[in-house]
Amino acid sequence: MTNIDPHDGQSPHFSGEDVKELARELYELNVIASKEFGSYTDQNFYLKDESGREFVFKISNSAEEKDVLDMQIKAIEHLTQQLKDFRFPGVCATIDGEQISTVKGEKGTTHFVRMLTFLPGEFYGDFQPHTPELLRDIGYLMGSMNKALTGFSHRAVNRQSKWDLKNLREITPIIKYIEDPRLRTIVEHFLLQFDTFVVPALPDLRTGITHNDGNEQNILVEKDDAGKLKISGIIDFGDMLYTHIVSEAAIAAAYATLGKEDVVSAAAHVIGGYHAAFPLTEPELMIIFYLIGARLCLSVTMSAFRRTLEPDSEYLLVSALPAGKVLEKMMHINPFAAYGLFCRACGLEPAYGSENRSSEEILAFRQRHLGPTLSVSYKKPLKIVRGLRQYLYDESGRAYLDCVNNVCHVGHCHPRVVRAARRQMAILNTNTRYLHDNIVEYARSLGDTLPESLRVCFFVNSGSEANDLALRLARIHTGSLDTVVVDHAYHGNLSSLIEISAYKFDGPGGSGAAPHIHKVAMPDVYRGPYKAGDKEAGKKYAKEVGEVVEKLLQSGKKPGTFMCESLPGVGGQIVLPGNYLKEAYRYVREAGGVCIADEVQVGFGRVGTHFWGFELQGVVPDIVTFGKPIGNGHPLAVVVTTAEIAASFNTGMEYFNTFGGNPVSCAVGLAVLDVIRDEKLQENALTVGNHLKAGLLKLMDKYPIIGDVRGMGLFIGIELVKDRATLDPASEEAYEIIERIKEMGILLSVDGPLHNVLKIKPPIVFDRKNADFLVAALDEVLKELNYR
Ligand code: PMP
Repeated sequence: MTNIDPHDGQSPHFSGEDVKELARELYELNVIASKEFGSYTDQNFYLKDESGREFVFKISNSAEEKDVLDMQIKAIEHLTQQLKDFRFPGVCATIDGEQISTVKGEKGTTHFVRMLTFLPGEFYGDFQPHTPELLRDIGYLMGSMNKALTGFSHRAVNRQSKWDLKNLREITPIIKYIEDPRLRTIVEHFLLQFDTFVVPALPDLRTGITHNDGNEQNILVEKDDAGKLKISGIIDFGDMLYTHIVSEAAIAAAYATLGKEDVVSAAAHVIGGYHAAFPLTEPELMIIFYLIGARLCLSVTMSAFRRTLEPDSEYLLVSALPAGKVLEKMMHINPFAAYGLFCRACGLEPAYGSENRSSEEILAFRQRHLGPTLSVSYKKPLKIVRGLRQYLYDESGRAYLDCVNNVCHVGHCHPRVVRAARRQMAILNTNTRYLHDNIVEYARSLGDTLPESLRVCFFVNSGSEANDLALRLARIHTGSLDTVVVDHAYHGNLSSLIEISAYKFDGPGGSGAAPHIHKVAMPDVYRGPYKAGDKEAGKKYAKEVGEVVEKLLQSGKKPGTFMCESLPGVGGQIVLPGNYLKEAYRYVREAGGVCIADEVQVGFGRVGTHFWGFELQGVVPDIVTFGKPIGNGHPLAVVVTTAEIAASFNTGMEYFNTFGGNPVSCAVGLAVLDVIRDEKLQENALTVGNHLKAGLLKLMDKYPIIGDVRGMGLFIGIELVKDRATLDPASEEAYEIIERIKEMGILLSVDGPLHNVLKIKPPIVFDRKNADFLVAALDEVLKELNYR
């Protein structure tokens, strides 16, 4: 392959017959057999002459520079001199004594040609097995070459190339040619990682001349006398350039991972071999994982681009297909762990933990300088330093499967979301008193996902702010402060919301319900009076709403607002029984009240069958509040209501929110919606959620402590009980399980009024393997803790 963009130069189109003719003319060779090899933009022919000598005839793309070819020839000669253990192609001169000659192409183009001796042996890519020794030898060859090339120089080494890993960003405009949206996202993830971890490190890394293409179709193997495979040589110096030396090891390692089950081990063998010949430095080892990803991304993206020009080319798929598979695998590999393995393969100890403060120091500081009401998860708190998709990494490099974070909904650090924020942040961030496209675009896009009556948006910064504003809207519209709320619910941390959140006002430090707050029972078909099998359960629970409304009316009051989470979260991951909201809304509306759906926890496709949780109940609320997942971690939240309620709120008092709806937040919100759609994440939540629930239900058969498994999509609760008849809550056990499963690399949380519900609400990129891992780990923990 070469650095030449197909638009920059003409590929040659010579036939086998043409080549025979040229061989005779230029080299006086009588060719009896010829065969063309695949190439990105050049032509390479295998030739055999009548005396059995074998050659490779190379015809360059018309844009190739003679100086560059001269550099390759000189480098080959240098390496042949320096490295006697390996073979390199010999360069033949024409009858006029030229190593590089010129031929005319069919359209009058000029192409440089060279005749090289053919190296015996086979490509290691065509050979199995790739033993650790063989992989080490690949690294050893590349390291030996780089070391030998430190004594080589040429005026053409400073050439530019798309295949130079440091130029990875240049693929950005052609990523769109990758057909599979998931693979596209993976490539974008690596690009982001590259920007974050590689780009800042590059200026301090060693540079030198590299072959830059130690791939599985360039490195040759031969059997030694004992029949053992050994690396014999390397061909194709067409990508040689002056760049960061570590790229060489990364490129060879990248190709060595193709088709391997354990890609990190395969790469580590190559890296270890490279290190033995030409020691890698600590900063180089730190970024090599991302450079491997970079090379695979280049391969996948360039191939997708080239296929738009040559749809039938099989050559373009040779590495691209397996490279895509490795990239997919790499998304689940802990980069810290890979770094550790690479170091050990080099006989070095990894140096983790360059982060500044220890957990103990942070805890001590928090105790002194942060409000004492802030709790931390786990007996031994975690210091999380990085996130990627559904994984979090602690300071020691340990990976955790995140089953808790429903805020980083489309995955931690999603590249499209990060890019949208970064881009808009660099252009403009101001308030909504100026006109801007983003807020309009976002309101339109969000509106497209909602029932038609809900079209007026208010932009705020948190779920709490959204609920506070929703309450104000409802109260002004109805002229009533009286509010019906569901027991154990949580709606936010503002004073107005503590007042309506039973979880708070009835909890520790709370002072009970204010006179205008009217609590109804949580419609919990596991613990409440009406059980799961009761088809009328929803109606029966809703009846209590009717009774509260009736009482209010009798005392001359109006029920202003009914507020209910679409699927109650802190209340214990409850799925509302059928018709609950339909009936409750009817009672409230008949009495002139307004119904608010708090969608802060569960919206944006999490429930799988629908985009919004309230849709499960077949209702259209008067006001809906959105938060948490809406900005994938960016503080964005929205209240959406009807034109009528919005009009009532227009009392003459302005509603202005400094940060709400700013161009950055809206750009982020738009990116989240795009990702959910393009990566089909709602569908993923449904299929993976169903699979997970099925696995958990099987555990329920084995372990009586599991009293109930409930949920929709990737919003699941496991209620633990000491006794399935009395429903005595197994709260201590729940905490013990989350501590133990954390040691196994899974983050879960406990919730519910009785602190006995394991909550599962991961980023919705969570996959089947993650679900299987979670079920297997829970099985293990439950077995271990002897809860049979
Ligand atoms: N409503 C619900 C249902 C919630 O779960 C939460 C947060 N846990 C909120 C509102 C408040 O959101 P925030 O913390 O973003 O203010």
